[in-house]
Amino acid sequence: MATIGVLIETEDGNVKDTNFGVLTAARGQGDGTIVALMMDGSAEEAKGSLEKYGATKVVQVSVDGADLDASPDLKARALAAAIENFNLDVLLGLASAQGRDLFARLAASMDLPLASDCVALDLAAKTVKKSHFSGKTFATVKMSGSVMLCAVRPNAVEAQEAPAEAAVESFAAAVQDPGLVRVVDVKKETIDNVDLTEAAVIVTGGRPIASADNYKILDECARLLGGATGASRAAVDAGFAPHPMQVGQTGKTVSPRLYIGCGLSGSVQHFAGMKTSKVIVAINTDKDAPIFEKCDYGIIGDLFEVVPVLTEVLKEK
Ligand code: FAD
Repeated sequence: MATIGVLIETEDGNVKDTNFGVLTAARGQGDGTIVALMMDGSAEEAKGSLEKYGATKVVQVSVDGADLDASPDLKARALAAAIENFNLDVLLGLASAQGRDLFARLAASMDLPLASDCVALDLAAKTVKKSHFSGKTFATVKMSGSVMLCAVRPNAVEAQEAPAEAAVESFAAAVQDPGLVRVVDVKKETIDNVDLTEAAVIVTGGRPIASADNYKILDECARLLGGATGASRAAVDAGFAPHPMQVGQTGKTVSPRLYIGCGLSGSVQHFAGMKTSKVIVAINTDKDAPIFEKCDYGIIGDLFEVVPVLTEVLKEK
């Protein structure tokens, strides 16, 4: 039976919801041990939520006297030490901005195979399904090597509770900081929006939104659905929305349960970032718009008429 490690990501010390999908993916691989590795936030505090999704061990990984967030290389070395200490066969994590950075450093330092942006896993067969060429194709990749490293696309696997009893442990890695890179400041996104990569519902506006002010129409609808507002690059380039809201090849990669595209043509580059959404709804005035060939539900209509009606219906609920 495999021992699967899951690197847990936190935000302001709280476990991000997207970790639960990764734990579910780990749980789905059989009855092995699931070791949740915490490099920030408290393992003791996280235990309750992590065991609800099947973690059988929660480990606080640290390096004496060091701030792991200040040195990505030291963090990667500490993680490598944890992989060896707990004899992990596989390490899963999120293919987030932080996850991609850390997993790449880890793979290089341990000379291990890495699959990023995975949407499905079969760890017994050592295969993963991952997107290629900006989401144009999906490939099933066979991995070799002593330990598999897989960064999973946030929300690609739906979180399902599978309660377990988890023990909490501490692991102090005896590793040195190579001192190559030092993080001196982190500037957080300041926009008032739910994190797009975490959102279960996203309402996105394209070029025809025509102004920053008009995004309020989408914001209201998104809030009522408990979701976030996104933008196409055309809308961002036109100055209607800030870049952190951009979805696509050069923006965020998202996998919400519901994606409502308002005034999007359906470009390949936009789809590269949201193709794995569970249900895609398109609102477009042009019945021949390419997005209608790629969505689950299409509404031929003006977003400025359709979205307010949807919002009113949601308010009545
Ligand atoms: P448009 O293509 O202008 O489409 C607008 C659509 O809205 C049309 O189909 C129109 O019929 C419809 N419409 C008009 N008025 C209304 C209305 N009132 N109500 C409803 N529908 C209406 N794009 C991204 O989005 N994300 C990326 O990350 C990205 N990265 C890129 C990277 C590269 C290297 C390149 C070359 C391009 C990238 N692009 C990206 C740009 C991409 O090619 C498209 O230009 C862009 O996605 C188009 O945005 P859009 O759909 O909002 O606008």
